[in-house]
Amino acid sequence: MAKLNPNRMEMPQQDPSVRRRNFDEVALGYDAGMAMQEANRCLQCKNKPCMTGCPVSVRIPEFILALRESNLPAAAEILKSKNNLPAICGRVCPQENQCEKVCLVGKKGAPVAIGRLERFVADWQLFQSAESEKIELPAPTNKRVAVIGAGPAGLTAAADLARQGHRVTIFEALHLPGGVLRYGIPRFRLPDDVVRKEIDYVQRLGVEFVMDMVVGKTVTVDELFADGYQAVFLGTGAGLPTFQNIPGENLNGVASANEILSRVNLMKAYQFPEASDTPVLTGRRVAVIGAGNVAMDSVRTSIRLGAEEAYIVYRRSEQEIPARHEEMEHAKEEGVIFKLLTAPTRILGDERGWVKAMECQQMELGEPDASGRRRPVPIPGSEFTMDVDLVIVAIGTSPNPLVPRTTQGLEIGGHGTIKAEQETGATTRKGVWAGGDAVTGAATVIEAMGAGKRAAAAIDAYVRELD
Ligand SMILES: Cc1cc2nc3c(=O)[nH]c(=O)nc-3n(C[C@H](O)[C@H](O)[C@H](O)COP(=O)(O)OP(=O)(O)OC[C@H]3O[C@@H](n4cnc5c(N)ncnc54)[C@H](O)[C@@H]3O)c2cc1C
Ligand code: SF4
Repeated sequence: MAKLNPNRMEMPQQDPSVRRRNFDEVALGYDAGMAMQEANRCLQCKNKPCMTGCPVSVRIPEFILALRESNLPAAAEILKSKNNLPAICGRVCPQENQCEKVCLVGKKGAPVAIGRLERFVADWQLFQSAESEKIELPAPTNKRVAVIGAGPAGLTAAADLARQGHRVTIFEALHLPGGVLRYGIPRFRLPDDVVRKEIDYVQRLGVEFVMDMVVGKTVTVDELFADGYQAVFLGTGAGLPTFQNIPGENLNGVASANEILSRVNLMKAYQFPEASDTPVLTGRRVAVIGAGNVAMDSVRTSIRLGAEEAYIVYRRSEQEIPARHEEMEHAKEEGVIFKLLTAPTRILGDERGWVKAMECQQMELGEPDASGRRRPVPIPGSEFTMDVDLVIVAIGTSPNPLVPRTTQGLEIGGHGTIKAEQETGATTRKGVWAGGDAVTGAATVIEAMGAGKRAAAAIDAYVRELD
């Protein structure tokens, strides 16, 4: 047997000095030769540890073997049998904490680049496969299910239910489907045509999409039942931004990450005014508060919108940064400056009410808090001021209360999350299931998809029992 290469195949990517001024995808993807070499690093372990790390149980060794045998249609089919959105997951899933974390090859070197191989196979199917994948559906059951929200949780639940022969309608508040995949994650990480084509697949399964429909306002869950839907899945996400509540947050030039990213991604504000009607706040010196994926996306977007200096301001140290390691490294390569162990205390404005600076305080790390991470403790007398003209707040989001407030019998838990059973997504209201960020609070794409899958299985069993 050939000796195992401890290094994984590098991912080709745009040069940082070029990409920091464009919105094209940063990671360019493997070519066939690279994918084959990487696939050959897989040991085809009998007990498949990588599968236990995947929240939707993708048959990883099997799809890698099919790829190795140059049977791309089979590889794609194996992926799709468990994951309705593989080209998206291959790009944004935190594989380093999931399948790749438990990959056996990782004990001796870099784990098999499972996510990159997933992307290669899924892209082949999306962009190169001469014939679209075959879609075979069972006889219609005529059971009707309403799915609220077209993010990864809703799309997955809808696709799985459609594949069982049920009539599924997705009701979405925005004018385009995708949820965070469309309005949050920037094009340089997740191109629009990838999201569009993955959603096309859900449409081809027969799922009906009703856009610009705010459930809880335009129509209520009770009205959907009255209209003949027999079950409802709530995948409404967690899109309500949290602010720090420090002085100066109401100044012009302070915005939530969600607002900036929605304008840029969903409304194409980066093409304003030539090809988009939506303007967006830009700054010469931009501070982004927070250090999760949302913060990294915001700061890298600001660089692309022309910022001369862009900062991540984070109250803990690099070790506690919640963003994916790769995103942090990409941000650094693009020139982002990390102000660590730093907490904003006040935002200062000029005489016209626009941001001109931010006062911060230096921190040190104390004992671990409830999250298990070391608690940041202010250092007295360490205040200093940063000259900035745009402050973007990216410290978290919570679920929008609209649906729980307008749906009888639906209980909520901490931070406005919908109470639902972990295994099935069943809520406290009969006939209503929920999953994704609306239940867990802000989490990940694949976790939302996993919840959508579990709920779809439970809904399928429920509606089949109905007369
Ligand atoms: C900027 C950003 C970057 C991220 N990066 C990553 C990453 O790299 N990797 C990763 O795994 N995760 C990432 N995440 C997290 C991930 O995107 C979410 O966990 C995931 O999208 C949650 O899916 P969801 O379907 O539960 O909700 P969402 O994606 O939020 O979708 C919810 C949908 O419901 C709609 N909706 C809400 N209320 C209503 C209503 N009343 N009526 C009708 N429709 C409604 C919304 O408009 C939205 O389209 C990121 C999140 C953000 C914001
Ligand atoms: S654990 Fe790693 S090496 Fe083993 S089958 Fe999975 S991907 Fe291949």
